[in-house]
Amino acid sequence: MSPTENEGLIPSTRSSTGETEFYLPLPPGYKPGQTRFVVVFGTVISGLGKGIFSSSLAKCLQDKGVSVAPIKLEGYLNIDSGTLNPYRHGEVFVLDDGTECDMDLGTYERALDQNLSRLNFATSGQIYRRVLDRERIGGYLGRDVQMIPHVTGEVKNRLRELAIASRADVIFVEIGGTVGDVENAHYIEAMRQLAFEEGQRSVCFVALTYVLEPSILGEQKSKAAQLGIRQLLECGVQPHIIACRAASPVTRKVREKIALFSNVPPERVFSMHDCESVYQIPEQLRGAGLDTAVMEWLQISPKFSEEAERAARERWQIYLGHLKRVSREVSIGITGKYTSVRDAYASIIKALEHAGTALECKVRLVWVDTSELTDERADEKLRELHGIIVPGAFGTRGAEGKIACLKYARTHGLPCLGICYGFQMAVVEFARNVLGWEDANSTEIDNECRYPVIDLLPDQKKIEGLGGTMRLGGHDVAIREGTLAARMFGPRTRLRFRHRYEVDPRYVAQIEAAGMIFSGRSPKAEIMQILELRPDLHPYYVGTQAHPELTSRPLAPAPMFLGLVHAALRRAYPDYATPLVYASEAEAAAEAEPADPPTPHDTSDSAQPADRHA
Ligand code: GLN
Repeated sequence: MSPTENEGLIPSTRSSTGETEFYLPLPPGYKPGQTRFVVVFGTVISGLGKGIFSSSLAKCLQDKGVSVAPIKLEGYLNIDSGTLNPYRHGEVFVLDDGTECDMDLGTYERALDQNLSRLNFATSGQIYRRVLDRERIGGYLGRDVQMIPHVTGEVKNRLRELAIASRADVIFVEIGGTVGDVENAHYIEAMRQLAFEEGQRSVCFVALTYVLEPSILGEQKSKAAQLGIRQLLECGVQPHIIACRAASPVTRKVREKIALFSNVPPERVFSMHDCESVYQIPEQLRGAGLDTAVMEWLQISPKFSEEAERAARERWQIYLGHLKRVSREVSIGITGKYTSVRDAYASIIKALEHAGTALECKVRLVWVDTSELTDERADEKLRELHGIIVPGAFGTRGAEGKIACLKYARTHGLPCLGICYGFQMAVVEFARNVLGWEDANSTEIDNECRYPVIDLLPDQKKIEGLGGTMRLGGHDVAIREGTLAARMFGPRTRLRFRHRYEVDPRYVAQIEAAGMIFSGRSPKAEIMQILELRPDLHPYYVGTQAHPELTSRPLAPAPMFLGLVHAALRRAYPDYATPLVYASEAEAAAEAEPADPPTPHDTSDSAQPADRHA
């Protein structure tokens, strides 16, 4: 690719003495103009689905063989999302490398089917910390440290580090919040500089805006969108593409008006109106020509043949095909304390969606508030459900209610999946009600209890401080042969974790003798990671210390969720007879019979997730 036309303008200094106003901390090996950047800004209001939009756009490019790497730039001063309350900010997503980040990273991982790392997530806290650390070691050589160029320089540095590490053709930058927020101003300024330094055609600015349609008027109004774009122009950022979110297709007249006020040709002002399912958005973008507009602006051409792009699109169509054939419905209860905020359980909801779709079944979510729930009220609350999930949590509130739910599920054959805290409470419930250890508990809840079956991980006993100190990220899980977990995963798998407490290994033998099997354990330490009830005791009672929802992908649903929805289907429809073949079983079977040509899978009525491997 051609080097930037601005190259001569930028002194190649890597320092910042008083001799130049420029500050360009380029990472070693980085050459401006070699990587392309797509920067997505939000205007008018937040909550327009910037993450979904930008991940879908990235996916369109990925389908053309262009390699992409996303980065989210968060305005807040927290170093990461680990200490944020999911009730206010949505769930804390955990990456394989242990980064605790914004839930949007989950959106990118799912859309791009790609594992991300700490390089894909920056907060103002991280940026300032780097600047301040550098200042303390005299890294600015006597200069006064300023928002421009030092803070903005660090922002650009983060993008360039990602460019070097990922070697992606295109970096997708999502700026958090909306234009006009004080806390994001340094990001916007950094992007303006980026375009100057990298060369105009290396950076594509995309403004996501909102077209109002007040019901009293019955027509679309573009004023708010115009003002939003104008704010961006005031920052020195001329958008190249405008995407208009709206309830219904944005009329030509309105698009022309927005074009007129923003110096963007009307053919690059797109309608991104609501559609039935977020899974249709990549096709919507393609249909409108947004992907082509980006590629044309950046002067890049597809790396795949048209045929390969079609194949990539068709793979995605499998999902939409299942979605269209959804014919059954099950009700799954989610028992928890943040039940009023759906974002706090975003990945669980997605994982249920993936599993349900694979089985061509709609999963109706039922929120079960556990703060007031008792054994007596459990029947009334759970009777109508076909399955429950007891999700992760911290602290004590609602714990007894969760234990009541787990007891009900265990004793009524109600399919059940306990996640992290839910897994721990399943062990407590079993210890109390099966082993008769009445005073069993987690030391997170009661430090003085007689049977502390859940206790702090040994490593955690020495830890001080809250941020980033849990057992975090991807860890291998060794699976016991002959168990349900072995059907799901084969002999080994990798799941993501975020916890401080664990099953105390001292109690494992007695618990197992009573019928609860720890079918997945850490291969390195004595940490119980998956539990299940003996098959003669329950149709589907599974728990995991991990967060399997974080690694569920539309075309590869998390097996534990698949198992739950399948068991729920069997409970809801007594004549439901389609057996469940887990992907790992299908793979093992395929490996065992390499000689035979594969028999074409009948997808017309197939409820089998295994057909994605066909
Ligand atoms: N509070 C529990 C622990 O720290 C469970 C954590 C969780 O559910 N993510 O181990």
